[in-house]
Amino acid sequence: MEDYLVKSTLYNGTIRAYAITATHTVEEARKRQDTWATASAALGRTLTITAMMGAMLKGDDSITVKIEGNGPLGVIVADGNPHGTVRGYVTQPHVDFPLNKKGKLDVARAVGTEGNVSVVKDLGLKDYFTGQVPIVSGEISEDFTYYFANSEQVPSAVGAGVLINPDHSVLAAGGFIIQVMPGADEEVVTRLEEQIQSFPPISQLIEAGHTPEEILQQLFHDEEIKVHEQLPISFQCKCSKARIKQAIIGLGKEEIEKMISEDHGAEANCHFCNETYHFTEAELEELI
Ligand code: ZN
Repeated sequence: MEDYLVKSTLYNGTIRAYAITATHTVEEARKRQDTWATASAALGRTLTITAMMGAMLKGDDSITVKIEGNGPLGVIVADGNPHGTVRGYVTQPHVDFPLNKKGKLDVARAVGTEGNVSVVKDLGLKDYFTGQVPIVSGEISEDFTYYFANSEQVPSAVGAGVLINPDHSVLAAGGFIIQVMPGADEEVVTRLEEQIQSFPPISQLIEAGHTPEEILQQLFHDEEIKVHEQLPISFQCKCSKARIKQAIIGLGKEEIEKMISEDHGAEANCHFCNETYHFTEAELEELI
């Protein structure tokens, strides 16, 4: 089954709920970046949340999420949009640790427990929203729960999980974001908090084959869920040889001549998808 997310509301629109399956998307990222297990989980949780945050935007808006912790992963970068494509990378993909005390991938150790989570939303017409909060746990879901409450002032519950196979491929990935809108009933919110507290790990539900709709139904029991959209999700990069060409042209004639005389060509690598673009001497000549 392909990855997708569901946007929904409950209780007359006072609760917003997103749920997503992202197993294939995270596996694609793992293959491209060659991430090891703990790094795959950290990048996967970030991509999962970024996909849902992208789905909150409209039109040509886009979002970039950056997690800069003091752990060995370095920086995690991901971006998303309302069309359901995400991409992302970590600066050090070869990070793997033994499972933590809870028997889970030790994402906090890889990310670090100090640093910043920053979010930039490009809202078109040079309008940007930026928000930054300190890392609170390094487990990523909790860090975004904190981000929504403190930077966007929207009380939210964020869950994202990734399970890795013994061969390091991705077994299951997905998540949810539940948000409390103005006017929500206090009692409903308290009950929801309890339900979320006792909810099984999201990655296990996805491994068991549950769809985003089923996950929401389990979270909200018999409550009526109004589904507004089903959005297919995939890993996709915006880079292309034409874009890299523009970047090389931007370096100026002198630099390009150096590439020809010293390197006899050029090679450019995209961080996001790990694609390498080659330019021959003849191609570089053309750019001058
Ligand atoms: Zn790329």
